[in-house]
Amino acid sequence: MAAAQRTLVETFGYASFRGQQADIIAHTCAGLDSLVLMPTGGGKSLCYQLPAMIQPGLGLVVSPLIALMQDQVQALNLLGVSAAYLNSTLAYDEQQAVIDRARSGALQLLYIAPERLLQPSTLETLRTCQVNLIAIDEAHCVSSWGHDFRADYLSLDVLRAAFPGVPRLALTATADPRTQEDICARLRLHKPKTFNSGFDRPNIFYSVQPKVNPKAQLMSFLKDYEGCAGIVYCLSRKSVNDTAHWLSQQGINALPYHAGLSAEERQLHQVRFLKEDNVVMVATIAFGMGIDKPDVRFVAHLDLPKSMEAYYQETGRAGRDGAPAQAWMVYGLQDVVRLSRMVDESPSDESHKRVERGKLETLLGWCEVTTCRRASLLSYFGESPAPRCDNCDVCVSPPITWEATEIAQKALSCVYRTGQRFGAGHVIDVLRGQLRDKVKQFDHHNLSTFGIGRSLSEQQWRSVFRQLVVRGYLQVDHSRYGALRLVGASRGLLRGETTLALREDPTPAKSRSKPARYKLELEDEELMEDLKAARRSLAEKQDIPPYMVFHDATLLEMIAIRPKNAEQLLEVSGVGQAKLAQYGDSFLEVLAKHSAF
Ligand code: ADP
Ligand code: ZN
Repeated sequence: MAAAQRTLVETFGYASFRGQQADIIAHTCAGLDSLVLMPTGGGKSLCYQLPAMIQPGLGLVVSPLIALMQDQVQALNLLGVSAAYLNSTLAYDEQQAVIDRARSGALQLLYIAPERLLQPSTLETLRTCQVNLIAIDEAHCVSSWGHDFRADYLSLDVLRAAFPGVPRLALTATADPRTQEDICARLRLHKPKTFNSGFDRPNIFYSVQPKVNPKAQLMSFLKDYEGCAGIVYCLSRKSVNDTAHWLSQQGINALPYHAGLSAEERQLHQVRFLKEDNVVMVATIAFGMGIDKPDVRFVAHLDLPKSMEAYYQETGRAGRDGAPAQAWMVYGLQDVVRLSRMVDESPSDESHKRVERGKLETLLGWCEVTTCRRASLLSYFGESPAPRCDNCDVCVSPPITWEATEIAQKALSCVYRTGQRFGAGHVIDVLRGQLRDKVKQFDHHNLSTFGIGRSLSEQQWRSVFRQLVVRGYLQVDHSRYGALRLVGASRGLLRGETTLALREDPTPAKSRSKPARYKLELEDEELMEDLKAARRSLAEKQDIPPYMVFHDATLLEMIAIRPKNAEQLLEVSGVGQAKLAQYGDSFLEVLAKHSAF
């Protein structure tokens, strides 16, 4: 493995392998098949790129996503690796040139779309090349259980006979046990060894706050991410447009993205998101599939996703480069009402709805957890994590719980007295003794529960009602426009047979507990800006996205190490020989300027 280590350092500029990378590479070099399960950002690509590079011959990489394939090839070329791709975007003579390079033995890595690979003439040609491994990326596409089934992937089983003895790796970030079996069987992997790195994304800081004033909360969150790229997810096209417009007015480089925009607009916004390093994409979930931008520093949810799986997938787009990133979300009672109504009103059958409801409830429960958020997320995916991560809002500022039995009884009896016909807003008015028109109209100022809850603010009551719904003491009745009604569990609480502790909502100041590791001193922030500016101008000259020059993680390490010369710059993770030669001087110049202060 000395050759692997040398290439890792000299070409990629990394000091050591991560997680199971070294084992996977050794396994592949020994000619054996494997199934590689690694979370996004875990470093899957190195597992096949490196063995293809250190062995004689050519590595084939099957990938369904044309944009990603181009991206990877470009990144490899910048490292001085001889890589190319074959897909439908190339003209005939360009394709021919790539094939010639493969035949002559000049190529180290060839990325190829499955439909292209499966053409008999392509298979014929490649069989005459010395193929040293075949990597099948996004391998879950072979399974109809997953969400991205691709019929082309099913025919990839022919590779076993077409390239006998050539080791194959199937790689994916998302595969439950059933999909894993499917991958091994359908690709006809030979006695594959499974390398499972689990689901954890250690560089993502998780945080959830009650939704009070979402725009102001978002703005205050974005202050910590000035000049950074990120995604803000909203549920509807309208809120996407509103939010993007509003953020632009606040001076943020925000763009909208949803299925209602024209194909050209969507394409344009996507390209800007990739090419510029500070675009905040405000989007519905229509945005994200196949987005491989490594330097997305945050994913913010202004509305709740529909399940833990969706949340994990959407937030997983943050921090692929391994540098600190944040998954931030605000949610409130309104979201609970709206999402559960969407489930109720969906055309699916009752058993399907029950599953959806269960998934939503699990997510809501997770929003209100009082133990480590990461531990709770990973347990949901069947892992046994450490009880604390110190990189989530709960670990950083543990929530305070308070004895809420009496307050909850007041809330429940007021729901009962008002006839179980109203939403939280009206019930709270009655509890707080607000003489509003609606209160007078229904004569609710004469109820025994009128004004019994003046000790809490409206905001505090909202928190109580939200938690009562999430914990199953109140139900939202969609056939009655979101009215709250009592359920079986309410009775025990009303009678004082059960007690209840609720979580105190964090105050905005407290909830700005950002990931400690992302904090830069003011002076460093200026250095970061200058490093980014240097990166931008180099990228513009080559017409490549800034992250292709260096990832954020590499810039952050430059700030920590403050290299003074080429030799020291090589110590920085992500700086290899090719990039040192191309970019080294520009960055050393910026660093020298700052050390002179
Ligand atoms: P995946 O395909 O699993 O999402 P990538 O292969 O794109 O992940 O790698 C994620 C990030 O980690 C990239 O920025 C990559 O350069 C970096 N990386 C991979 N392996 C290492 C390593 N051994 N040391 C440092 N950084 C690494
Ligand atoms: Zn934690």
